[in-house]
Amino acid sequence: MIEIHAVHKRFHDHEVLKGVSLTVNAGEVVCLIGPSGSGKSTLLRCINGLETYDGGAITIAGMRVDTRAKNIHELRMRVGMVFQRFNLFPHRTALENVMEGPVFVKRVPPAQAREQARQLLDKVGLSHRMNAYPAELSGGQQQRVAIARALAMEPQAILFDEPTSALDPELVGEVLNVMRALARDGMTMIVVTHEMGFAREVADRVSFLHGGAICESGAARDVLGKPQHPRTQEFLRRLL
Ligand code: ATP
Ligand code: MG
Repeated sequence: MIEIHAVHKRFHDHEVLKGVSLTVNAGEVVCLIGPSGSGKSTLLRCINGLETYDGGAITIAGMRVDTRAKNIHELRMRVGMVFQRFNLFPHRTALENVMEGPVFVKRVPPAQAREQARQLLDKVGLSHRMNAYPAELSGGQQQRVAIARALAMEPQAILFDEPTSALDPELVGEVLNVMRALARDGMTMIVVTHEMGFAREVADRVSFLHGGAICESGAARDVLGKPQHPRTQEFLRRLL
């Protein structure tokens, strides 16, 4: 589904991605872990075409990600993204936030988009808050709206960039529960996270990125349970 082959990315003279390769099959959940500055966000941004890359290749369902290509908008629709900060439109209700993409980008008739948005908000446990504005919602509720909004575009995969890092600890669980349910439904996901419990339980694979290269990759129980690379060992030791 997502094929990343030897991707290089530099910002001026700083090489941020040094030949990253990663394959995510349909229905798989891959957790990407690694220290600050290792290139996790940059990699996600390259995958959905928010950022260009300088070498290698990324394909989504066989379609090459190339920010200069005509189909880049179509590609971005195929891959949803959920950020640490929820980025909801502040002057629109939860329902309107979820409808926005389908109506304005996919030209779905508003009545149909509204019905679909209702169902998605119900799915993330927010049927009682559809008409609330973002400022009236908790961080966990806003993040669940952001997930519903990503789902509204009917993506083939969703990339999560530290979706729970900005949340108060008591709100983390409700967002992880929604993500767990998505994984169970067979959504293809790449999740950048520091939630090792979630990674251990939900991820099919864990990849450890260090200094722009994948240092270790494997089954969650292996990488998190008995890491082989000294850098992975040190990173995990510091997290505990
Ligand atoms: P964190 O865990 O802190 O979110 P990260 O692994 O997501 O870190 P990135 O945000 O991908 O790391 O950044 C990797 C490196 O690239 C960092 O050194 C960062 O300063 C640099 N970088 C990222 N975006 C840009 C940019 N637009 N211009 C210049 N340098 C950048
Ligand atoms: Mg980041």
